[in-house]
Amino acid sequence: MTTIKERSRPEVVPAPFLVHPLGSHKYPITEGYIYSKAERRQHGVYFHGGIDYEAQPGTPVYAASAGYAVAFYHRFVVRNRDGTIRILDGLPIGNGFGLAVQIYHPPDISDVSGGVFTQYGHLSGFAESITPKMTAPIEMDIIGSLRRRNQKRRSGKLTETQLASLIKEQKQLIDDFPWLKFIYGYHTGQTVEEQESYLWTPNDLFTFHQAGSPYVTHVNQGDLIGYTGESPLFWGNTDYDEDNIPFRIPPKDQEKRWDEPHLHFELAYRNDGPFRPKQQIDPYDLYLSWVHYNGKLDTLFVDS
Ligand SMILES: [Zn+2]
Repeated sequence: MTTIKERSRPEVVPAPFLVHPLGSHKYPITEGYIYSKAERRQHGVYFHGGIDYEAQPGTPVYAASAGYAVAFYHRFVVRNRDGTIRILDGLPIGNGFGLAVQIYHPPDISDVSGGVFTQYGHLSGFAESITPKMTAPIEMDIIGSLRRRNQKRRSGKLTETQLASLIKEQKQLIDDFPWLKFIYGYHTGQTVEEQESYLWTPNDLFTFHQAGSPYVTHVNQGDLIGYTGESPLFWGNTDYDEDNIPFRIPPKDQEKRWDEPHLHFELAYRNDGPFRPKQQIDPYDLYLSWVHYNGKLDTLFVDS
């Protein structure tokens, strides 16, 4: 049987060019390249593709290497494979990058053809030099998609009565938690300007930066880019306020979270296609779950 490492490790492994995004290796790793069973139980996903470092909210986050930084907000509701809203101990959960920064590291910095990028998720805020490009939420048709999925099903199709009862239950959930209807961070847009900034190609980034766009910031290695937080790992929360971006983050005692505050850090190799994380790289080259990560490790960080 092939291991995850054999299957997932890209052929291009970048030369060490990164410093630790929290400036120190003292922060415990709480999730590795593959999610732990405990976290899988919560959201049902197997591949994590990043590294989670537990850190108090407000801990400074630094650019792991020089490049072009963009900032954005990304949030979705966790759903089951059948499209129904996933419930954790009675309540729906939010997930996504939250307030996040992505940095593109061109080949002259990363020594990787096509460049690579890093992503920093669940932040509570950005450095002053970084201006987020926020886009309006997209309303989802959860009920319609349930109907369509059921239509398409070859076997195990729900009867009209079963479907009606499922839809009633889902509608009630959406009424109780209005944020379920909306997702953030998925504007693929007609024009490049309309798109989410994390979808911009290297060419777009250079062009916008040269034209003086506030949404693309050139950063040097070790520059402050933001602060750790827990966006948007909320749980239940009927009154999560995302209408006014940047939104108010409710005080901890008013808001239930399903995960501890942490930095989600991701390193990804980019193929020649559209600018998306095509192949995530484990900077520790382990491709395992978190229990294997803490302690003395060989890493791709230059400061380890
Ligand atoms: Zn993570």
